[in-house]
Amino acid sequence: MIYLNRSPKGYTIKKGNEAAYDDRISMYPTEKDGYNSYFDLIPKLKNVSVLFNSTLKSINFKKKIALINNKKINFDILINTISPDTLFNFKHGKLKFIGRDLHTFVLPGKNAFPKDVFFIYFPNNEKFTRLVEYKKFTRHKSNNTLIGMEIPSSNGRYYPMPILKEQRKAEKYFKMFPEWCYSIGRAGTYRYEVDIDDCILQSIEIEKQIKDNIYNGPKVSGDQFKIS
Ligand SMILES: Cc1cc2nc3c(=O)[nH]c(=O)nc-3n(C[C@H](O)[C@H](O)[C@H](O)COP(=O)(O)OP(=O)(O)OC[C@H]3O[C@@H](n4cnc5c(N)ncnc54)[C@H](O)[C@@H]3O)c2cc1C
Repeated sequence: MIYLNRSPKGYTIKKGNEAAYDDRISMYPTEKDGYNSYFDLIPKLKNVSVLFNSTLKSINFKKKIALINNKKINFDILINTISPDTLFNFKHGKLKFIGRDLHTFVLPGKNAFPKDVFFIYFPNNEKFTRLVEYKKFTRHKSNNTLIGMEIPSSNGRYYPMPILKEQRKAEKYFKMFPEWCYSIGRAGTYRYEVDIDDCILQSIEIEKQIKDNIYNGPKVSGDQFKIS
């Protein structure tokens, strides 16, 4: 059996058990509304001001001023979570992303997938890549089951391209970030392998850097993001 170390998210060909990610733990909030009530708390925190329905028009990185809703806002630290090309007006060209068309349908029956199967990946000629049985995560009780089908498309900028040419282009943008400006998250780091747990880890790392007064560049996850 050959092992190809090419998949940005682990093995492409696996020996033994055919199940992918069987060495990972999937976690999901126990609250009925998922993550919503957690995030609803944030605007209520002391010294936190959240601007909804706001448009960032431009940023003056030298003067550290952002133009939001036509109002000038001074900042000391900037943490970006959108694709860095947008932030710099596509100076080095648009970064490529793959989008997804998401279709959902309900099937009769308590469960459609076998026990402990949350996702099914299809590697052949199907138009879709993955099916998801959501109640495996949410543990929702029902005699029916909701399935999601994911079809690659140009709808949205969800999946950064795991190819060197695009990653080198992204690097040009990261070089443009001045001190105390960060770019994190899946789109912000332009890395497909960044999942929710990595986003949380990156935020914790930023907190550490700020408290220690040590800035190490716009990306915060160390060696895993270096490209040759
Ligand atoms: C189909 C799918 C399934 C996934 N499944 C999992 C999973 O099971 N587990 C897991 O850990 N991760 C999963 N991920 C990855 C996970 O969603 C991302 O890693 C995570 O959401 C990234 O968080 P973020 O805050 O960086 O960005 P996002 O959650 O993408 O948030 C960025 C926000 O910025 C907004 N935005 C973008 N551009 C602009 C702009 N110009 N102006 C204003 N706002 C803008 C977007 O609308 C979005 O709301 C999945 C991703 C996809 C697409």
